[in-house]
Amino acid sequence: MRIPDGMVAAVFEPVWDRYENSVRLASLRSLRQAQWQSLDDYEKHQCAELKKIIRHAVDTCPFYRDRFTAAGVDVEQVNSIADLAALPILTKNDVRQHQADLLSSSYAKDQLVPAKTGGSTGVSLQIFCDRRGVEMRQGAALRSDEWSGWKLGQPMAAVWGNPPQAVTLKNRLRRWLKDRIIYLDTMRIDDAAIDKFVAEWRQMRPGLLYGHAHSLFILCEALEARNLTLRPTGIVATSMMLIESERRLIQKVCGIPVTNRYGCEEVSLIACECEEHHGMHLNADHNIVEFLRDDGTPCAPGEDGRIVVTELINYGMPMIRYEVGDRGVPGDRACPCGRGLPIMEHITGRVADFLVAVDGHKVAGISIIENTLTKLPGIQQMQVVQEEALQLQVNLVPGPTYGPETEGQLVASLQDYLGAEVAVDVVQVDRIAQEESGKYRFTICRI
Ligand SMILES: [Zn+2]
Repeated sequence: MRIPDGMVAAVFEPVWDRYENSVRLASLRSLRQAQWQSLDDYEKHQCAELKKIIRHAVDTCPFYRDRFTAAGVDVEQVNSIADLAALPILTKNDVRQHQADLLSSSYAKDQLVPAKTGGSTGVSLQIFCDRRGVEMRQGAALRSDEWSGWKLGQPMAAVWGNPPQAVTLKNRLRRWLKDRIIYLDTMRIDDAAIDKFVAEWRQMRPGLLYGHAHSLFILCEALEARNLTLRPTGIVATSMMLIESERRLIQKVCGIPVTNRYGCEEVSLIACECEEHHGMHLNADHNIVEFLRDDGTPCAPGEDGRIVVTELINYGMPMIRYEVGDRGVPGDRACPCGRGLPIMEHITGRVADFLVAVDGHKVAGISIIENTLTKLPGIQQMQVVQEEALQLQVNLVPGPTYGPETEGQLVASLQDYLGAEVAVDVVQVDRIAQEESGKYRFTICRI
């Protein structure tokens, strides 16, 4: 029996929150309102929340007390976003080495919700968040789901690696009454899996289709080959590597635009496109996002820099000036939608995904992929691994029209980007291995 979407939104969702004593929907409601306030009002909000969390961090986390003292920082002097610049950066290495001292003494450890990061850069981190913070993060995710065209109460379909199983009775009940979600496991995409997914789709009629960008692309490519379409009301791509040609194919197969979203496990959702798809709105409700040059000074609008996030809602393990490991470009224009949330023009890529040219300059992995994979005929999938400065290995899944000519063009194009001295070793494979989360990496730099 299919439960009407309206009943899920009006009854089961709020009842579940009350049962769990959760602020998730309350947070969603306040975020829906807040998004229309002005940029000035957002900055006032960020300032007030910053002062609160910094003082909390120094009062209750030994790490910040020691680190700020050593840096000669008086937190009473931190009164504006610009004052953040005086505080030291929190690196992934800091988090790994000082995890216990980053936890706030206001919480028992078993009150906190753990999250483990993927470890795609070779470093896996254990992060904790207090429960209220987690529920507020969920509220922010729901708001960005709504920007895609999905409505609260509509079922969802996730294209994901190793999807969670509803084991307990509570979880099964929750999935039936409220979450109503179907999965396509990207670790096992074959004809049978696609058939099963499409059959479940027809029964469940999901509103939202979400997953890593490239996984959505693989699904849509398979659907196109069988002349099938899906008709979600919203599509959210959660990986930052949304290649333009892949975006176009997903859009063609599903008939609606793709909403690109960017975030990481360590902090709240960082940015998401609205229905205008004109850059990404930063989640200024929950984070302060800085874009920094290599010397630590702030980037000008339009200038690419390191992304550093101060999360304003995690009191269990405050993340203050956390260097995410990605690069992006800030904007200074208003979005036609009228929301006051500031704009990030785009994500340039994960730092670990930048390849290094012979002359030392860095090239974003996505640029290389967009100018090879999507322009040369016959390449189905590829991954470029730079093991040494002058040595590239390209793992490549050949398509039907792949031949020596394509390979020649591919090698020439890569040498064009990185230098003629770079040796390129093309290895044909059946498939490109995914990370544990199901995420694909197109470029990997190991130098
Ligand atoms: Zn907008």
